[in-house]
Amino acid sequence: MRATDDRYRGEQAKFELALRMIRHEARTGTIRYFTGLNDDRIRKLYTTYFKFGQAPVRRQRGRSPTRVAPLVRTPNRALESGVFANLLLANGLFSVEQPPGPGLKGSIDLGLRLCECFETFETLVPRSALSFEWGWNLLLSLRRGDELGIAYCEACSICYVFDLLSLPRAACPACLLFEERGPIELVAAAS
Ligand SMILES: [Zn+2]
Repeated sequence: MRATDDRYRGEQAKFELALRMIRHEARTGTIRYFTGLNDDRIRKLYTTYFKFGQAPVRRQRGRSPTRVAPLVRTPNRALESGVFANLLLANGLFSVEQPPGPGLKGSIDLGLRLCECFETFETLVPRSALSFEWGWNLLLSLRRGDELGIAYCEACSICYVFDLLSLPRAACPACLLFEERGPIELVAAAS
């Protein structure tokens, strides 16, 4: 019985992760990557739970975005990407010391953590242009380490994402924004 129970729980966890990802408008390929469910089952889940619901969820078709330039195109985008990258790093989805970090394929636990990062991100940056799929693209790119890097600014103590291939290296986006907007009034921290 235990084997049957465990298997049932395993299947249940896959479905729950798939539903959570569909809610974030993840693409079928991304859901398949983490859950191992085939396209047909993912499609049925979407139709059963979301297609005719009160708040319809759009189904993203085709491949995930693979370009990275939009993630750092403006200082604002680079800052947003930096917030998401910090969450990914803190949640162990990639590693700077032991790149690229843990294997993600088929990991329900890490898939859930990715969803949690995205949900936290949406709370922190409610009107962001970064979708779940762009967040996934950012994670893959940081793990590959060939196009995007993460840097720490000693002047303002933030971590930001930058294009490894652009020379000279982009300055810290937060410092740039402060420069553009002129001096800001510092709010004293509550003692
Ligand atoms: Zn800075």
